[in-house]
Amino acid sequence: MSDHFFKPIAYKVEGMTCTNCALGIQRALEKEGFHNVSVDFAGGEVRFEVADESRLPVAIKRIENLGYSVRDSVSADDSEKGGMAPIEKKFWFTAIFTVPLILAMFIPVDFLHNDLFQLGLTIPVFIVGFLHFGRSAWFSLRAGVTNMDVLIFLGSTAAFVYSLVGTIYRLGHDYMFYETSASIISIVLLGNMLEHRSVKKTTSAIDDLVRLQKNTARRLITEMYEGQETVEEVDASLVEEGERVLVNTGDKIPVDGEIYWGNGSIDESLISGESVPVDKRKGDKVVGGTMLLSGTLRVKATATGKDTVLSQIIELVRNAQQDKPRLQNLADKISMWFVPAVVVIALLTISYWFFGTDLPFRDSLMRGVAVLVIACPCALGLAIPTAVAVGLGRSAKNGILLKGGTTVDKFNAIDTVVFDKTGTITTGKFKVKNLQCFGKSEESVRSLLYSLEKHSNHPIAQSITTFFKGSGTVHFESVEELKGIGVRATDKSGNTFVAGSYQVASHITNDDSRNVYLLMNDQLIAWLDLEDEVKEGAVETIAFLKKRGLKTILLSGDLRSRCDSIAAELGIDEVYAEKLPAEKLEIIERLSAEGMKVAMVGDGINDAPALAKAYVGISMSDATQVAVKSADVVLLKGDLSLLSKAFGTTRTTVRTIKENLFWAFFYNVSAIPLAIAGLLTPIVAAFAMAVSDVIVVLNSLRLKRRRLR
Ligand code: ADP
Ligand code: MG
Repeated sequence: MSDHFFKPIAYKVEGMTCTNCALGIQRALEKEGFHNVSVDFAGGEVRFEVADESRLPVAIKRIENLGYSVRDSVSADDSEKGGMAPIEKKFWFTAIFTVPLILAMFIPVDFLHNDLFQLGLTIPVFIVGFLHFGRSAWFSLRAGVTNMDVLIFLGSTAAFVYSLVGTIYRLGHDYMFYETSASIISIVLLGNMLEHRSVKKTTSAIDDLVRLQKNTARRLITEMYEGQETVEEVDASLVEEGERVLVNTGDKIPVDGEIYWGNGSIDESLISGESVPVDKRKGDKVVGGTMLLSGTLRVKATATGKDTVLSQIIELVRNAQQDKPRLQNLADKISMWFVPAVVVIALLTISYWFFGTDLPFRDSLMRGVAVLVIACPCALGLAIPTAVAVGLGRSAKNGILLKGGTTVDKFNAIDTVVFDKTGTITTGKFKVKNLQCFGKSEESVRSLLYSLEKHSNHPIAQSITTFFKGSGTVHFESVEELKGIGVRATDKSGNTFVAGSYQVASHITNDDSRNVYLLMNDQLIAWLDLEDEVKEGAVETIAFLKKRGLKTILLSGDLRSRCDSIAAELGIDEVYAEKLPAEKLEIIERLSAEGMKVAMVGDGINDAPALAKAYVGISMSDATQVAVKSADVVLLKGDLSLLSKAFGTTRTTVRTIKENLFWAFFYNVSAIPLAIAGLLTPIVAAFAMAVSDVIVVLNSLRLKRRRLR
């Protein structure tokens, strides 16, 4: 079945606290036969595909059976309602009862030490903890993926039950561990609460983008009879393709469109990261969500709803966050086995001390409890998603769109960077230096060139049409683009015309130094000398890559002499010239077969297959034409310096992930022997655990501003 029949579904799901919760949901839905299930616990989202929408209630039921609440589909306005999150309420409630219990450890006031008084304080805390952790633990066991809450539940319950037995049988102070039970619960809730708050911050990039979408539009309505124009304010989402809107100074542009009247200066920083405003006028494209700083525009909508650049970017960033780096698989595996392993270690600890030494049962038990609590790898589930979310968000703000967590990994493995030339290394904005005609008037040559080249998206074609605009048009019967070569057309009387590189004229002339040759019925009628410049920042970018030890290659369809001279100017290691799109693809394939991890940087014109084939495909496209299909990375401006930024951000993201894993895992694990040896009380263990949660999230947030290396 083609995936055409599958409809993508996204739900907001509340109550997921860790990767294991996510794994549980994923498994349950996959068992029910839903496709492409991905669960992002940090963002609270579940996505999957269905062929038959009547099965949606089944999915909701499965998720709810696992103990989570499904809060309808993900909509554009997902902003959190006011009020306290449930986790915050739970924490503050338990804290009130726990504080006196902890004080009792330091203050020698009799009634604070009374066991019934302590029991009274602990019961409310225990009930909250029992429901919170117990519920989640129970559901996780049912789903077959034990989560971290199992450990917390066991630890706090062991301490509570032990103390309760002591109180019932009046066994005295040796049996009182109420404060341990209560503190484990409160402290872990505190950790969860802080985590909840900061995880929200890590995913703020999407919220920022979504907020940009909310907008009103001044829709223009022209009366049929009087030709009068009226303006009505409507929600931007109601504007349809082809409708016209008025944009005044200070307005957010409501739709993607083309200016048909007026001019103005536009702040596009939100989608491109470029802080300098761009001047636009009639005929230019505008992007919805950007801000008109000065001027007035009338814009005809060319894309609305899901088709706008902004929607595509949001979708991309959203999907990207679901796509986990390969390190995640490792972390998932570890956390699946880790919980049962810890329970076993805790039981062994208790047995060893109780049966193997003359340590009393209560101390043996407390050592076991400390093991349970210190080993809880809650932060492990946070280590990767939070870092990826922040890293991708930071990149997106800079105009670098990464298609997911795996791209972050892959970026770090790149050892060879292949550049396309025209439009990538050079500006692609050609100036016509010289036009020479043979036996035809310049006027007719101009209109021929204009009429041929307007059918191509190639930078050369675009430059020629801009340059020769207004030079009359010739009508052709048929027009065909020869990819990587030029354009061919036939007119009514059967004459054929070809405009293109030396390849089309090599049998007629030996002079290969011209950029474009124009042939009529296989006779040379004109040639053009064009000039475009190497992009700003190209020298620095190549130098940056070389400093990192990466090999650089120029891969172009253009003439060898021109490619060689540019490569020499920039210090590029290797040159492949005069390659057609298919040959570009072959070269990428060959380099990959030789074991190189190749990043291909191109503009998507004549190099899309190569981009798709490369280990990492990096497309430099204009924000007004996000052609993202074939690339893993989209640089929203043609700016080459974004490339070094992309290297920097991904590398720093991976570094952050590794640090996070250390704090989440090794830090806790290395404390297990201390707990076994009795050098850690359960309360200290709970603190240490909460601290490691918070450290991990803060470390991820640090990535927002961290210096890139
Ligand atoms: P690059 O790899 O440097 O980006 P391309 O493969 O896109 O170059 O194009 C190779 C060459 O083919 C160009 O240098 C140009 O001479 C010629 N060419 C391609 N398309 C056109 C066109 N539409 N009009 C004229 N020449 C073209
Ligand atoms: Mg190109």
